[in-house]
Amino acid sequence: MESDESSLSHPTSRRMRPNAMMPDLSPEESEMVARARRIAREDILPIAAARDRNYAPGEAYPWHIADKLDAAGLRTLTVPGKFGGFGARHLVQAMVAEEIAYGDLGVAVSMDQTYKFTQLLTVETTQTQRDLYLEDFMNDPRALLALATTEPQSGTDTFLMHDEPGAGPRMTAKREGDFYLLNGTKHYISNGGLAKYYFIFARTAPDKKMSEGLTCFLVPRDTEGFEIGEAHSKLGRRLLQNGELVLRNCRVPAHNLFGEWNGGLSILKRMVSGALIPVMGPSRLAYDLARMAAQESGAASEQWAQMALTEMYMLIEASRTYLYSAAWHAEKPTDDSKRRLMSKVFASEAGIKVCRTAMEIWGRTGATWHDDRPTPEKCWRDVLSYLHGFGTNEAVKLKAAPLLAPAGVDEW
Ligand SMILES: Cc1cc2nc3c(=O)[nH]c(=O)nc-3n(C[C@H](O)[C@H](O)[C@H](O)COP(=O)(O)OP(=O)(O)OC[C@H]3O[C@@H](n4cnc5c(N)ncnc54)[C@H](O)[C@@H]3O)c2cc1C
Repeated sequence: MESDESSLSHPTSRRMRPNAMMPDLSPEESEMVARARRIAREDILPIAAARDRNYAPGEAYPWHIADKLDAAGLRTLTVPGKFGGFGARHLVQAMVAEEIAYGDLGVAVSMDQTYKFTQLLTVETTQTQRDLYLEDFMNDPRALLALATTEPQSGTDTFLMHDEPGAGPRMTAKREGDFYLLNGTKHYISNGGLAKYYFIFARTAPDKKMSEGLTCFLVPRDTEGFEIGEAHSKLGRRLLQNGELVLRNCRVPAHNLFGEWNGGLSILKRMVSGALIPVMGPSRLAYDLARMAAQESGAASEQWAQMALTEMYMLIEASRTYLYSAAWHAEKPTDDSKRRLMSKVFASEAGIKVCRTAMEIWGRTGATWHDDRPTPEKCWRDVLSYLHGFGTNEAVKLKAAPLLAPAGVDEW
């Protein structure tokens, strides 16, 4: 089946319906979601395909879009109101990130990482750290955040917190006068090379297990001895920079110790206890692109296409409902990290199926490179990145497994 290129190039030109799933949002919250939706469709979507295809990994991030998101109050979305942000709850964060991800998943993740670690920078920092960095973070439209654990020799063992000597990060930190000297390399860090402030985990008692010898440090990008290495060339999410962080005698001031000395594992536990991923953005776009292609070609009146589109729609609705429910519960006494963990696995697997079906509906043009318009192929590559990002799906399932109720306990 052949697609009509002219009409597929801009899904935004189609009639726009308000987000059909806006559960109990205040008018202000709905406005933030609507702003994200507008910027995604009017500004991000038209440029995403060309940047994805033609730009080097270290150059693809559209800073002018980040500026626009900041001006709309979306960079500081989760900063508490008392510090000058919007103070969004998890549900709104998830919905905003999903809307941005409709335009491009990489741009959405650059914001979403910042949303996730804002709590650390604004609330969990010491007064000295806030005095030093908060004003700058609020005022610099390009101040993004990142968190770094993964290293060339350590990934899943850190995510699963294998608490035995030898497992986990190898980067070291030693006290020297009023500084800590950090040495080692992190890699694949989302916003690595883009962020201004990094939360970095290093061994402070290298011979001990992580629970006794891991510490977190707040490292501004301009710290002496801190360098960005390779910008990894990824299959998907290519507008986002995933970078290598190379620390050589990196001189972190003593006051930038974050949390307790040797207390890094408890911070890490909270950070990897489940992410609310914006994966439904590309899935929804793939569905829209498939629906348009089916209409253009006449396939929409055929049963095979009707069944395919219905299946895609079901997967999207089920995944969104799961993610939103996990986000809603995240602030309630009913919170249970396995819901967040499992919804990440479910939604990313469902997203891959949705995008793959969209590629099939596009026929041969679904299996062709395009850099002039949104394609289900890009959506598919973007979603694939969630098989790894924030823990591989296998590792996430292993993390959720012990949280299942034992036999004999009524879970439901
Ligand atoms: C797009 C993207 C974004 C990322 N962003 C960040 C970031 O912001 N910060 C950060 O610190 N890291 C980040 N990472 C790194 C990511 O967290 C790691 O890639 C991931 O944890 C897997 O680690 P690894 O690549 O070292 O694989 P490995 O740990 O070497 O695993 C290889 C394979 O073996 C499987 N495996 C390993 N151990 C087990 C086990 N015990 N049981 C079953 N299967 C197992 C894994 O599931 C995987 O399939 C990112 C990665 C990607 C691709």
